Amino acid sequence: MTAKVIDGKAFAANVRAQVAEHVARLREENGLQPGLAVVLVGEDPASKVYVKNKHASTVEVGMASFEHRLDASTGEAELLALIDQLNADPKVHGILVQLPLPGHLNSELVINRIAPAKDVDGFHISNVGLLGTGQKSMVPCTPLGCLMMLRDHHGKLAGLNAVVVGRSNIVGKPMAQLLLGDSCTVTIAHSRTKDLAAVCRGADILVAAVGRPEMITGEMVRPGATVIDVGINRIERDGKAKLVGDVHFESAAAVAGAITPVPGGVGPMTIACLLANTLTACCRANGLAEPEGLTA
Ligand code: NAP
Repeated sequence: MTAKVIDGKAFAANVRAQVAEHVARLREENGLQPGLAVVLVGEDPASKVYVKNKHASTVEVGMASFEHRLDASTGEAELLALIDQLNADPKVHGILVQLPLPGHLNSELVINRIAPAKDVDGFHISNVGLLGTGQKSMVPCTPLGCLMMLRDHHGKLAGLNAVVVGRSNIVGKPMAQLLLGDSCTVTIAHSRTKDLAAVCRGADILVAAVGRPEMITGEMVRPGATVIDVGINRIERDGKAKLVGDVHFESAAAVAGAITPVPGGVGPMTIACLLANTLTACCRANGLAEPEGLTA
């Protein structure tokens, strides 16, 4: 069997186009422009690239982008004061604080200072609780992107066996909650799981969010399963830098029914979902109907 390759790049372009259409309509019919504020503290090179890409994508869909670049030595009080200011600003519907923060800053304290309704990363403890209890929340972007692709591929997910490998707060746990919300039978595997291969082979939907290059191999995949590879690992092969996922693509694709590649799978969906979340936040803040198909 050769798996269908799920094209995350094309999927994300479609999501961004839908967001842009909604944004244009909001402006025309309601005189509103969704706004996203991104806060970057320090000079982490990868974070600088992410923030630059987020700004470009935000502007491209017609939203307002507010960038706040702070010195690495910025104190907690100053950062919290900026978040308070953004919380109170009606032009700002979404706030994202780029992680990781420099070591002297307490990430949990900072994230939990963001107004939950503007927490477009979905990391605020209130949003985590709302998602866990099946209520409307802001949903973390990467798992939301995975869910959108799964719904598109399968239609209904109810009754399917889903295995999520990884239990981080930003990917594994919210992914499992979303799949449970769609009535999958969900197993969360992690570094202490016994016989991981056997657990994975029980999956109709296998989500890998481990951070270990090509760890999930074809022998761990049930024939016909859908494999979602969240991993982004930079490795060196044959003297060249290469980006690979947590799934060994060739062997898994020979067994799976569908699979996301790396790059070009889950990755592009994350920013697209950030834009979708900002749009959702703007609609909710103004008592308007949420964009269909762009939320959990
Ligand atoms: P993380 O916080 O490091 O969590 C990794 C999880 O994998 C942990 O729960 C860990 O288990 C589990 N794990 C580690 N080794 C394992 C093993 N041998 N067997 C089974 N489970 C094992 O990572 P993360 O932030 O969730 O990210 C995971 C991957 O996704 C990374 O490659 C990251 O770069 C990528 N990522 C991509 C995007 C995107 O936009 N596409 C966004 C976020 C993350 P324990 O809890 O037991 O230690």
